[in-house]
Amino acid sequence: MIHNLIMRRGVHPDASKNTSELPTIRLESFAKVQIPMSMHIGAPCAPCASVGDQVSVGQKIGDSPAFMSAPIHASISGKVTAVKKVVSSSGSSVEVVEIESDGLNTIHDSVKPPVIESRADFIKAIRESGLVGLGGASFPTHVKMSPPPGKEPDILVINAAECEPFITADYRHILEHADEIIEGIISTMNWLGIPKTVIGIEDNKKDAAGLLRFQIGKSGASDSIRVKLLKTIYPQGAEKPLIFNTTGRKVPTGGLPHDVHVMVLNVATVRYVARYLKTGMPLVRKHLTIDGSAVARPCNVTAPIGSFIMDIVDQIGGVKQSPAKVIMGGPMMGVAMDRDNVGILKANNAILLFDANDAAIPEESPCIRCSKCIDVCPMNLMPTGIDAAARAKDLEDLVRFNTMDCIECGCCSYICPAKRYLVQGIRMGKQLLRDSEAKKKAAVKGEQ
Ligand code: SF4
Ligand code: SF4
Repeated sequence: MIHNLIMRRGVHPDASKNTSELPTIRLESFAKVQIPMSMHIGAPCAPCASVGDQVSVGQKIGDSPAFMSAPIHASISGKVTAVKKVVSSSGSSVEVVEIESDGLNTIHDSVKPPVIESRADFIKAIRESGLVGLGGASFPTHVKMSPPPGKEPDILVINAAECEPFITADYRHILEHADEIIEGIISTMNWLGIPKTVIGIEDNKKDAAGLLRFQIGKSGASDSIRVKLLKTIYPQGAEKPLIFNTTGRKVPTGGLPHDVHVMVLNVATVRYVARYLKTGMPLVRKHLTIDGSAVARPCNVTAPIGSFIMDIVDQIGGVKQSPAKVIMGGPMMGVAMDRDNVGILKANNAILLFDANDAAIPEESPCIRCSKCIDVCPMNLMPTGIDAAARAKDLEDLVRFNTMDCIECGCCSYICPAKRYLVQGIRMGKQLLRDSEAKKKAAVKGEQ
């Protein structure tokens, strides 16, 4: 029953895929970049470049001994002018390495194709590439490729759904690099011993699906890789619904894809795998969609990681008016920022700038018990109940309503006629549960 609910729930926001027909523009010249030492889930990197150092593109400038981490590389060549703490896009403090460009974009000597002879070599190379999930989650890819014993994947799911409004970076990636996407999938399957792949893509992108099928046929991998068209509905690309809709497997509450022997990679992630294996160039650039009512010329770009949002926007024609709201990511799951002088991150797939009209936040009113939020929740949750429990700090109810299963897709807030701030409430509820769990652990530790 729950499976069927996952399949048909969600919402249909205005797609606003304004940039889907526009080829990606490669941006090269940036006077300065600011590269954060934490662009991934896990331990932040420690800088291994100092003020005054001359660095080149692809040179490692940050790393960590922790397994759950991913190294950071210089995205332009030039001089390191600062290593300092700044306030990140999420509001926390993060260490950055600032590089002033020498205008040459010299490539570092260490950039060469990795020598790979085994599965261990492959995973090590992926770590060295600095690759993290490019769909927005920023989970280190080498960690995803190292599941616990007994949980090895027997199917690779490629997320090509791109269901968030406005964002077309993955769609353009497919149109422009379908051959490398299939190459990356084949390398991943071969080195990790995964026999099958299914690429999940929404049925409003039939041309991209056709191109992927053509490349699969050309590579001779039609028996092991298939493309599955999925219903166009938000949040089709969320990990748990995607796994169910492509494989029929259901990730248990609190579980991960490897619990059902599935590995999920974003379509851009596998393309970078192919690029890295061929060139040895680590992840130093990012494809992203720039759009929103304040942008003069919406488009897709590829820009060095760490380049400032407004420098990118200036290079593509600037703004029509001063943006009242800047979002990193899509309008449903993205993070609203209180300023625009931050550098783009590895996992950024869009920057949206909205004018005052579109930025206005509607005032919330009391719940009218219409149950629309429950009807659309792809995780079969009761958003209104979780929100009420979070506001009342009722931990028992938060557990009873499976709060931690929420994927923060925003469907409930989107559909709510009372404009209740449901996602904010649910996030607060999750934090209350995490804090309570941490307190319990600390108490147990204290007793030992
Ligand atoms: S409760 Fe969570 S998963 Fe359900 S619709 Fe709201 S944000 Fe999405
Ligand atoms: S959609 Fe809004 S108004 Fe309707 S039940 Fe949910 S919280 Fe209440």
